Amino acid sequence: MDGKVVPIPYGRAGRGRKVKGLVGSFQLMKSLNKSLILNVIRTDGPISRAEIAKKTRLTPPTVTNLVNDLLESRLVQESDLGVSTGGRKPIMLKINSEAFQVIGIDVGVSHIKVIVATLDAAIIDSLYIKVIQPLDKESLIKLLNESIRRIMEKAALRKERVIGIGVGMHGLVNPDRGVGIFAPNFNLHDIPIRESLESEWDLPVEVENDVRAMALGESWFGHGQGLEDFICLNVGMGVGAGIILNQELFRGTSYTAGELGHTTIDVEGPTCACGNDGCLQALTAGPAIAARAQRGLRMGRKSRISEFVQGDWSQMTGETVYQAACQGDEFAREILADTGRYLGIGIANFINTLNPQKVIIGGGVSKSGDFIMETLKETVETRALNISAKAIAIQTAKLGDDATAIGAATLVLKKLFLPNIPHKR
Ligand SMILES: [Zn+2]
Repeated sequence: MDGKVVPIPYGRAGRGRKVKGLVGSFQLMKSLNKSLILNVIRTDGPISRAEIAKKTRLTPPTVTNLVNDLLESRLVQESDLGVSTGGRKPIMLKINSEAFQVIGIDVGVSHIKVIVATLDAAIIDSLYIKVIQPLDKESLIKLLNESIRRIMEKAALRKERVIGIGVGMHGLVNPDRGVGIFAPNFNLHDIPIRESLESEWDLPVEVENDVRAMALGESWFGHGQGLEDFICLNVGMGVGAGIILNQELFRGTSYTAGELGHTTIDVEGPTCACGNDGCLQALTAGPAIAARAQRGLRMGRKSRISEFVQGDWSQMTGETVYQAACQGDEFAREILADTGRYLGIGIANFINTLNPQKVIIGGGVSKSGDFIMETLKETVETRALNISAKAIAIQTAKLGDDATAIGAATLVLKKLFLPNIPHKR
């Protein structure tokens, strides 16, 4: 890690935003070609210069020049010799994943999780900071800065080796401006996350809705790798989704695409936080599961669920119901099976709308595994319209609890490797 530090080419093209100081010294990716080569090395490496030329249709001298730049910046390194196709064995190139780091932040309701990852999203270090509510915009920004400062210290990061900071923020987010437009769980509006963090750290900052960040993380490093179209459904305290179409996040006209938690499943169903009746979220999120358990117990259902909260029903959560199900409790298993059915109805709707290749389910409720997955899959099979839709792969998220933080880091990696694709479709 010693030696001369050459500024990293970091894509800013197309957005007209520049950060002073260190980031100012981050060169704009001077040519499309350099980022093209960098990305081919990422996806196909170890790869020879000749193969890069073939794949990118650039001339060998151009490839050689640009690869030299990338080697000098230390983003790329030479690896073992490849297989000869006649002459001498070619030198192979790969991404120097550990030479730089990226910071990913998952802004949850009760905790902020921050990770440091390599360029291939391997987590080097992480920590949590507790969120104490109520909090205003300034104290939230302060907490974010505190989390960055602490992870930099804990992981002994050199700032010139950090390529940027990604933030996965719950609620409505404008990723083009880096603003949290509305965070319902904090009741905060117009949080200038990017502006505040960039001025504090002189590093590029990317901000995205937490579930969309999770979907991007699964797309690059999880079960969505290589897929063109898939849906990543998060079922936890709320229900939301990130939709990947043509390998890109689909955001919609005003950044609200993916609010699948507020599609109606049962018009006679319980009232949702959004005010409508029978939303998917009101039937399947953790609090909805707990509410169904409480209702059943009030009506005299025999169950061991209340033992897990020492009789204090107000402490009941989706997890309590899951624990009881694991102990063989019939009522708890019934509640989770129903949750799977409701999710199946919702997912069949989304499959019929978007015809994705796969549906990935993340979030706390997805940890209930087979207790929900069995009825979920059955319901999708019954309700999806055609044979290929019925057979669609449905699986739980690969990145688990780290999915949003890794997704947040991926926002920054995406700017490095694919800088020229604008946010808006
Ligand atoms: Zn709703």
